[in-house]
Amino acid sequence: MENGLSAASTPPLPGKAAGGEPAPVATPPAATALQRHTCYDLLPVSYKVIVFDTSLPVKKALAALLQHGVQSAPLWDSVRMRFAGMLTVTDFINLIRHYYSNTSYDNALEEIEQLQISGLREIQQKMGLLRPRNIAIHPMQTLYEASKLLLKDHLHRLPLVDRVGNQETIVSVVTQYKILKYLAANAPGVTKLNTQLRDLGIGTFTNLATATAQTPLIEVLNIFIDRKISAVPIIDDKGFVLDVYEKYDVLMLAREGAFYDLEMPVCEALVKRAPDFEGIHTCTLSDTLGHVLETIRRMPVHRFIVVQDNMLQGVVSLSDLLAYLIEH
Ligand code: AMP
Repeated sequence: MENGLSAASTPPLPGKAAGGEPAPVATPPAATALQRHTCYDLLPVSYKVIVFDTSLPVKKALAALLQHGVQSAPLWDSVRMRFAGMLTVTDFINLIRHYYSNTSYDNALEEIEQLQISGLREIQQKMGLLRPRNIAIHPMQTLYEASKLLLKDHLHRLPLVDRVGNQETIVSVVTQYKILKYLAANAPGVTKLNTQLRDLGIGTFTNLATATAQTPLIEVLNIFIDRKISAVPIIDDKGFVLDVYEKYDVLMLAREGAFYDLEMPVCEALVKRAPDFEGIHTCTLSDTLGHVLETIRRMPVHRFIVVQDNMLQGVVSLSDLLAYLIEH
């Protein structure tokens, strides 16, 4: 045992079986563990789920997200009595970008006062930014199926929607973090726990999207959307990591109505960061997979910024880790 995780189990060696037949390829231990459990199994005995009616004003939804410290919430269409997708930080970023390029600040303020979530969906539809379908999973589907769906659609969270006949119920939301925490805490025989990240090929180390403290905020928002990433490291001219601007930080900005000044340097936007900011997790390439999983087991992590003497080397996101674990 190391770091409170299970010792590595040995999967069958690939290659030829005794009879000369190709040996079946072993299912990775994490994938096996996730296939054995349903999303329902991850639900605690008692929990809250925050769901917004699509007629709720966007401003109230924003305040509620911040109040509950969550980044997103499932939506309910009470006319059609149906699950209606998710409201996420990306929706707010798209809204801010829309107002930035289409209207004056005064108009934006006026419009946003009236805007309901359903109206926001219409704006996104016109911008061609809305997903063609509302992605959800049934609570009795396996964590493996949920993981595959999360990775395929580049999602960080997936609503659990129960369907009985014509009736739908939003049960909860399963996140990449919850699945990884389950894997880290329940010792499902993950291998290579002692192997350093440098030897595992987990994460992104080339073509990194970064910004400097002076980069205009609008450029960082554009990076989030264009590169489909959730955080941009802020570095100085030598590559030292100064901070990380996260998608979640945009919620605070939106609440302050700061969409009028998107030319502000990102360092100014960082000052407006939510007071419950949990900090940045860094690691080095010498850290082991076991160490990274142990950190995830102990505290909420959104990603690891990989550094060497505080110089940016790469990013190991939760999706990188999940993809690695279900494939190896
Ligand atoms: P996430 O931001 O967690 O959705 O990450 C999605 C993918 O983008 C993962 O493969 C990350 O390694 C990669 N990634 C995350 N942040 C950055 C960044 N700043 N530059 C380049 N790639 C990134």
